[in-house]
Amino acid sequence: MTQPIIFCDFDGPIVDVSDRYYATYRQGLQLVEQQGLARAQPIAVRPISKAQFWTFKQNRIPDRQIAHWSGLEGHQIDDFLAQVNHIVNHPSLLRHDQVQAQAREALAMFQQCGVRLVLVTLRCPDQVRGFLSQNNLDGGVSELFGMPRTDAAYTNQAHHKVERLQTAVVAQQRQGYSVKNAWMIGDTEADIMAGQTLGLETVALTCGIRSRNYLQGFRPTCLMPDLWAAAQRLQRQVTLRLR
Ligand SMILES: [Mg+2]
Repeated sequence: MTQPIIFCDFDGPIVDVSDRYYATYRQGLQLVEQQGLARAQPIAVRPISKAQFWTFKQNRIPDRQIAHWSGLEGHQIDDFLAQVNHIVNHPSLLRHDQVQAQAREALAMFQQCGVRLVLVTLRCPDQVRGFLSQNNLDGGVSELFGMPRTDAAYTNQAHHKVERLQTAVVAQQRQGYSVKNAWMIGDTEADIMAGQTLGLETVALTCGIRSRNYLQGFRPTCLMPDLWAAAQRLQRQVTLRLR
């Protein structure tokens, strides 16, 4: 039997970035508020709640619109967006990243099933390795393909994801692995589009930064709540094949 290969995104399936993105939003607002005070032009900032913020992010409400609904206007919004891009990868904010619920159990299950797990992410590899080793998750990952730039993950552009996944697929084939029946697991349209471009089965997870409704429009092979559900599905497939 050939070894099952799973290509998997990092932010969303494995990491819950919602606290970091919300903390970044709050800090960005605070910095713009302080700039206003320094110019003797006070701004009436109205931060939205974490739940509201995340619902907006999951439904792809642009950051510009979120800033406007938080009390900013005109150049204040540009200042806010520049701050957010500047600080989102700062170590003090990266500390807010957490292991996604049951992702640890899912990685253990993949390992039990003999899966070759290949991470394909727009994060830079050092950040990914740091997070995995701090959380004792590195044992479950066979190979990692990241981006050298630190700002690529936040902008999440689909063409970057396609390019990274293609590199990862070619590297597996060169090492003699078959990617026939391989999955691409992720939480955004970029992951689904990359998987589809390379002819892989696509598993879209709804525990990340996009809503179920939104993801459905990209027609992934299947939609699942989280990585644990995907691991259970894989285990059933492996068990059936062994019978
Ligand atoms: Mg993601």
